[in-house]
Amino acid sequence: MMKRISTLSLGALLLFSRSGLGSVPSLATTWTTDVLVDNGSSTQRDKIDRAEQKVREIVRSEAFKDRVINFTYNGAKRFVDNGGLTNTQIYYKILNGAERLLPAQDNEMDLKIKTYYQASSTVGFTSSSSMYINMNTKFLNSYTVPETSKTMMHEWLHKLGFNHAVYYSTGRDYSVPYGVGRIVMELARTAL
Ligand SMILES: [Zn+2]
Repeated sequence: MMKRISTLSLGALLLFSRSGLGSVPSLATTWTTDVLVDNGSSTQRDKIDRAEQKVREIVRSEAFKDRVINFTYNGAKRFVDNGGLTNTQIYYKILNGAERLLPAQDNEMDLKIKTYYQASSTVGFTSSSSMYINMNTKFLNSYTVPETSKTMMHEWLHKLGFNHAVYYSTGRDYSVPYGVGRIVMELARTAL
C-alpha cells in the first residue's frame, strides 16, 4: 500500500514538472509570420504557405524553445558563429523578429520570396541588401513541407544577421542558420 501511494505521488510530481516546462514566453505565443511570395506556380505557393504555417506553429512551441536553448556544439551549449550570443539570446532574437532591413522588434518573421530555376546545387540565396530570399525550384519542387520550412528559416536567420562558413565543415552544421533550420525541419516532421 505504501509503495502504491509513493508511485502515484511520483507520477503527479512528474506531471507537474512537465507542465512547468510547458511555459513559453508570451513573445512566443504572439510570434507570427508575414511571408509574401512574388511568383511561382500555385503548387509552389501552396507548399510555401503550408511551410509558413509550420514555422509559425513550431516557433511558438515549447519544443522549439527547448531545442534552441539546449543546443550543443562539441559538448557546450552554444551555436557556431553565434555573433557572441548565448542560446537564450538567440532564441529571443528570433522571437523579437528584428530583421536588419526592418529593425523594429515586431515579433514577426518578415520575408519576401522569389522563386527561380537554375540547374545548380544552390537551394536558395539571399543578399544582405534585400528582404527577398530566392528559392531554386529545382529543389523546391521536390521538397517536402518540412524541408521548405527549414529553408525559409535558414534564409530568414540571415536576415536577422546570422552567418555561416561558405564552404562545408562540420562546424557549419552547428551555425545558427543550419542548426535552427534543422530544428525547424525535425519538429515539422513530428506532430507538435
Ligand atoms: Zn545560408
